[in-house]
Amino acid sequence: MKDRVIIFDTTLRDGDQAPGAAMSLDEKLRIAHQLARLGVDVIEAGFPVSSPAQHEAVARIAEEVSGPVICALARALEADVRAAGEALAAGARTRIHTFIATSDIHLDAKFGDPRFGATPAEKRRTIIRMAREAVRLARTFTEDVEFSAEDAGRTDVGYLCEVVRAAAEAGATTINIPDTTGYCTPEEYAALFEAARACLKDHPEVVLSAHCHDDLGLAVANSLAAVRAGARQVECTLNGIGERAGNAALEAVVMALHVRADRFGVATGIDTRQLTPASRMAALATGFPVPPNKAVVGRNAFSHEAGIHQHGVLRRRDTYEIMRAEDVGQTTEAIRLGRHSGRHGFFSRLDRLGLAVPEAQRETVYRQFVALADRKKEIFDEDLVHLVNGALVPDATEHYRLEWVRVTAASGQPPEAEVQVFFCETGERVVRRATGDGPVDALFRALDHAVGSAHELATYHIRSVTEGSDALGEATVLLSDGGAFFRGVARHTDVLQASADAYVEALNQLATHHADRRSVAFVGHGIMHSFGNPAFGAGGAGNGVAASH
Ligand code: MN
Repeated sequence: MKDRVIIFDTTLRDGDQAPGAAMSLDEKLRIAHQLARLGVDVIEAGFPVSSPAQHEAVARIAEEVSGPVICALARALEADVRAAGEALAAGARTRIHTFIATSDIHLDAKFGDPRFGATPAEKRRTIIRMAREAVRLARTFTEDVEFSAEDAGRTDVGYLCEVVRAAAEAGATTINIPDTTGYCTPEEYAALFEAARACLKDHPEVVLSAHCHDDLGLAVANSLAAVRAGARQVECTLNGIGERAGNAALEAVVMALHVRADRFGVATGIDTRQLTPASRMAALATGFPVPPNKAVVGRNAFSHEAGIHQHGVLRRRDTYEIMRAEDVGQTTEAIRLGRHSGRHGFFSRLDRLGLAVPEAQRETVYRQFVALADRKKEIFDEDLVHLVNGALVPDATEHYRLEWVRVTAASGQPPEAEVQVFFCETGERVVRRATGDGPVDALFRALDHAVGSAHELATYHIRSVTEGSDALGEATVLLSDGGAFFRGVARHTDVLQASADAYVEALNQLATHHADRRSVAFVGHGIMHSFGNPAFGAGGAGNGVAASH
């Protein structure tokens, strides 16, 4: 029996802290269900005290997602730990993850106030006391408590040992040693684990955990070095999304452990065939496309261009391939599913791709497939992933519906767009026209004009989901207003239609946000936050409190 490495996914917490990610509650729930299918051991679902949206996301995931342990983040503060415990109350298997900074640079910046101590030595003692109290309080909510020494990567090793020993004595069952700033090299990071293991010799049951950031492109390498040095939990995210340059990519960590089992001698509980569907789902929910050269899940990860490589691979696959595309859920096979293929062929294909469609939505999804089959000759697996994910995204409360668009673009003339928007609350219809620098600009101006909303366009991009001139185009629009972001994603074989649909979806998100702010401030489970605080984005990471490790 090989040693197990616990895969702790933090796509919904650290990943959600990536600027502009701002996943909605429904997107988070769908990702959490996919993570359960993928077989992750722990899902870090959010940071409940940071915002009402985070609190609700954790509570819903704890209630609805079974299989993995559901984890909530909390600073080493009573209110945070209580909020985490309350958000997790309905869960069957739950974990509270509490953290406090331990590096001198963090101590100096965050604990400058004299109430934490007059000297650096006193501040260090205060940190240890706060860590111990937070862990003890967390243990009153659940047996499974993780403690993180934030910025451990830049913490004095002697002090780090004192802190982790205190946390273990207080009842922490997992000790995380994060390289919060992505500063360490693999050798240095491994040395921290060797030191921590040595000072925890009285607590052999405590699991050591790695949490790495990719600021120097070393997140995966550092995570693997930690495993070699005794870490038995790795914290990672789908596609490596996360704060700044991101976290260690789950798919790369998992496949390195699988492909190089000869070197690591450990196993994970991951169903690797679910890696690509999970990656696509995360890309769709965050609006960050997967680069084609991305390890394991990139579209080109298994394609060979050079003739000598193609020749080699045709003779023997292992000449240039160290793993098989199908083992990570990447299939290049074009399924010639047409409109006459029928429901059976369609749904059995979805089953094989691990795309679960609830009974109530099967007919809608099938109708969308037939409509797509009318516009497109070949339907690739990737088209299906997008179709299903798109169909299952419930609308933000619909305020505006785009009824039609007309765009004219001809050489030598300014492009012009005309739109008709239906206002769902009043039943009013508005037609507006605008010109612009290009057809998309004209389209967006016409929509702004029709809706009369003030905001900025933060990002717009379009990419082709599959190949060929009839490929499905995916448009992503990110609007910003008062520090909050609102995203719309839409797919269509007509890229202008996709752009308009994505823009209207983002406008609907923005209108929903404003409607919520007009309603009463959120009061729940003993914590109170006002939606009037612009620091709380729409379902965002709650920038009102500092969470960065
Ligand atoms: Mn982090």
